[in-house]
Amino acid sequence: MARYTDASCKLCRREGQKLFLKGERCYTNKCAIGRRPYAPGQHGAQRKKLSEYGIQLREKQKAKRFYGLLESQFRKYFEIANRKKGVTGENLLQLLETRLDNVVYRLGFGTTRAEARQLVTHGHFNVNGKKVNIPSYIVKVGDTIEVSEKSKKSVRFKEILDITGAKVVPKWLEVDQENLNGKVVALPEREDIDLNVQEHLIVELYSK
Ligand code: SF4
Repeated sequence: MARYTDASCKLCRREGQKLFLKGERCYTNKCAIGRRPYAPGQHGAQRKKLSEYGIQLREKQKAKRFYGLLESQFRKYFEIANRKKGVTGENLLQLLETRLDNVVYRLGFGTTRAEARQLVTHGHFNVNGKKVNIPSYIVKVGDTIEVSEKSKKSVRFKEILDITGAKVVPKWLEVDQENLNGKVVALPEREDIDLNVQEHLIVELYSK
């Protein structure tokens, strides 16, 4: 699968806010947003007035990059969200948030979404007792997510929990760090999602 391989911090600098793509580093003074708070590139420091389209585009890019998706994947989520009842922008964020890789990250079983995705792909997780190695798998209320028995012995999860152990898990999830499992107790509401984005602008962009 195609994926973004350039420096992650450039993405945050382009969007002008932290997207938390590098785990621990994002919480230190090494974070590029603090050190170079302007867009990357030769003309990055010049302030440009954005058009209406430009503003909508930036909001879409921000959400897409936060969840680490490519355009075609993100667009598919929009189309599904648009077909669902309710507010399309909120449906979109709820879908993105309930992807298995994001849930693994939110539970603290990965230090970044990228790491969580790799761990899922490598078959380290069971959902409701069955191995699931598809990062885009959408979890439902009542689903249990557990590190597989074999992987529980891996030193990697101990290292991950040493980093993420103090992290607050959103209220729509429950976690048992000791037994390396978690449960979806509700669907995420908009206020549970810590992404600073105006989702209605994404809907406007795709509705043109
Ligand atoms: Fe973004 Fe800062 Fe983390 Fe780099 S260190 S990915 S700029 S939040």
